[in-house]
Amino acid sequence: MVETTIDYAQLDDQEKNQILALQQSILESVLDGTSPQDIIDKICHLEESLLPNSVGTVMLFDNKRNKLDIIAGPSLTQDAKDKFSSLQPGPGAGSCGNVIYRGEPVFVSNTLEDPHWQDLRHLAQAYHLMACWSMPIRSANGGIIGTFALSSFESRSPSPFHLKLLEIGASIIGIVLDRREQIARQRLYAHIFNHTGESVLITDDKLQTISINPVFTQMFGYTETDVLGKPPSFLNSGKHDANYYAKMWQDLNATGYWQDEILNRCQNGEIKPCLLGISVVRDTDSQIQHYIGIYSDISRYKQAQAEVDFLSRHDAMTRLPNRRLLRDRAEYALIVARETHSKLALLVLDIDHFKNINDSLGHQLGDTVLQDIVVRLQSILQHNETLSRSSGDEFLILLPNLRDTEQIDQTLQNLQQCMSQAFVVSQQELLISLSTGIAIYPDDGDNFDSLLKAADIAMHRAKSIGRNSWSYFTEQMNTDAQERITLGNQLHRALNEQQLHLHYQPQLDLHSGKILGAEALLRWTHPKLGTIPPGRFIPVAEESGQIVAIGAWVLHEACRQTAAWHAAGWTDLHISVNLSAVQFNRGQLIETVESALQTSGLAARFLELELTESIVMTHADKVMSTVHQLKQLGVQLSIDDFGTGYSSLSYLKRFPIDKLKIDQSFVRDMLADSNDIAIVRAIIQMARNMHLKTIAEGVEEQAQLDVLRSEQCDEIQGYWLSRPISAEQFTGWLTQYDF
Ligand code: C2E
Ligand code: MG
Ligand code: MG
Repeated sequence: MVETTIDYAQLDDQEKNQILALQQSILESVLDGTSPQDIIDKICHLEESLLPNSVGTVMLFDNKRNKLDIIAGPSLTQDAKDKFSSLQPGPGAGSCGNVIYRGEPVFVSNTLEDPHWQDLRHLAQAYHLMACWSMPIRSANGGIIGTFALSSFESRSPSPFHLKLLEIGASIIGIVLDRREQIARQRLYAHIFNHTGESVLITDDKLQTISINPVFTQMFGYTETDVLGKPPSFLNSGKHDANYYAKMWQDLNATGYWQDEILNRCQNGEIKPCLLGISVVRDTDSQIQHYIGIYSDISRYKQAQAEVDFLSRHDAMTRLPNRRLLRDRAEYALIVARETHSKLALLVLDIDHFKNINDSLGHQLGDTVLQDIVVRLQSILQHNETLSRSSGDEFLILLPNLRDTEQIDQTLQNLQQCMSQAFVVSQQELLISLSTGIAIYPDDGDNFDSLLKAADIAMHRAKSIGRNSWSYFTEQMNTDAQERITLGNQLHRALNEQQLHLHYQPQLDLHSGKILGAEALLRWTHPKLGTIPPGRFIPVAEESGQIVAIGAWVLHEACRQTAAWHAAGWTDLHISVNLSAVQFNRGQLIETVESALQTSGLAARFLELELTESIVMTHADKVMSTVHQLKQLGVQLSIDDFGTGYSSLSYLKRFPIDKLKIDQSFVRDMLADSNDIAIVRAIIQMARNMHLKTIAEGVEEQAQLDVLRSEQCDEIQGYWLSRPISAEQFTGWLTQYDF
């Protein structure tokens, strides 16, 4: 049977009026805001009044359960309602069950005989339902959502008026149910919008914000009044480039959806990482109506991710770099070292008897001790040095960019010093020591693994020689370092206890044949070790900074002695004093020189200061200005060991230098090596062009002297004339020297 719309022509006037009154009455209820349920009940009552001896019922179909449930039947007893509830559609399931089963209206005039009622006959009898006409209720999209039935307590067929009643009832109930669902859905949306854990921002088609939910305000700090009417760009953090937004619009236009991580700016300026999903809402004509953005705060997740990243490269307990990170840094430092021809050191430090500490104090206190140790170790490191925890009680230290291995001495001494005081743990004093192994690039290995292995072997050697000690991988380095550290410690006393003194080596003017003066050379007479040459202890003094005090003493002593010679009649005597780079950088050099001249009374022009090439080549403004200030004092300046330091001449010209001291290595081999004589000749030539004097060092033989003279070198110094000798010897020597 097809659902047909009953033509009003088939109805008589009274029926027409009744139908109109029915519709008007229902409409009034709809308009005055009567609830959907009450409207449906009212429809049942009204229709029952127009069809005496009947009951109206409304059943809703639940797709999922495939069952019909009575939602209205105001004149049915509760008992009857219960019996008809959960009705499963089927060919014998009564009129309503068949409407769903067949998808069309079903009008049964005699329930006791009609096969449509086969399965429900007992209920028909029990409740005296003799006829039952049922109409499908359709939703707006046409689908059947339930049934509207008029059942009679007598057997009868529907007239056109009855069919009209059914038709009107079913269609209005359909609308009311749709509306009920819409209202419910709207309430649900509103609920979700207001209570979801995500922030929601809705714009119109012109990207003007029309709504945000409370979570949005919580998450970003903006209230609705802050943002209404504005485009969502108020959230822009400036952290994404144009490509990012281009891709977003491309996706939105193509698929109506886009999702990605985004950094948003909160109202307080904080940048918050979010996961943003934007959907485009279109109306039925595909016109864009809204954009809906849903933001989830992923800062916690990001923090967790950062923590995971951190932990993959750090030790969780001490938060120090782990071995992996240290390896990365070491590999980078190795590249730099290779390029700059510098060295680097890898130290393995193992806490002595840490197992005992752990066993006696427990692991928790053991951890506290470890953390205390870390604090001390960190305090002795420079910013570019890395401390890493590589396993339970083992640490690694990377010392990159070393000029020389002497730089390690300081770290080793600091290590021992920082561990020398007791650790206090739960009111106990603990003395803890370290065994340290040292490996050096390039001497002991040229990659991280070989250095680590070497340092580890060295650390075990340190353990075997009695713990609380260190050991270099290379034996010679051990002895050298040991000596340097011993010397460094004893150098303090050397100055105070007058173990230092000066020797003087005369210099001869080749033009006049006269003794020009002398170079002051430092000597250390060690009470046990005897005479220690400057080449051995000056680097140590430079490393520890003691050279500043020692250098000042040299200047005072050399000036004092020269002034004494002047007083004794050798009034033209000059004195050359060596300066170290460290004095330039750390000492108050100008003041020291001034004071040496003043206390001795020596005129400045008799003092010559020997600078190394490395001093002038540092390219530092401070050095340049110090050199100029020295020159202004009236002293002479020379460059020592010239030719070994690759000085650039053009650069040298900027310094007010008086003299170049040709390094003794060229002089030594000058007679045998044609290269060396060429270099000597070139230096003399060049110096003359620059109006500088030249002095050749290390002249040991007459033949060397002859060559230098013929090359027009100005002055010489060397064993040929005299070895460096003490002041008294020098006085004697001067007396004897045949001017
Ligand atoms: P230098 O300034 O180049 O000093 C010259 C060195 O050559 C001296 O060594 C000297 O004894 C040695 N020498 C001189 N004539 C000859 C020779 O004919 N043959 C050979 N084979 N050697 C000769 P010394 O005294 O051992 O000093 C070594 C270096 O120590 C000096 O080299 C200088 O750089 C440094 N030095 C010495 N005294 C001082 C000082 O008071 N302060 C600073 N900063 N450095 C100093
Ligand atoms: Mg010198
Ligand atoms: Mg020299």
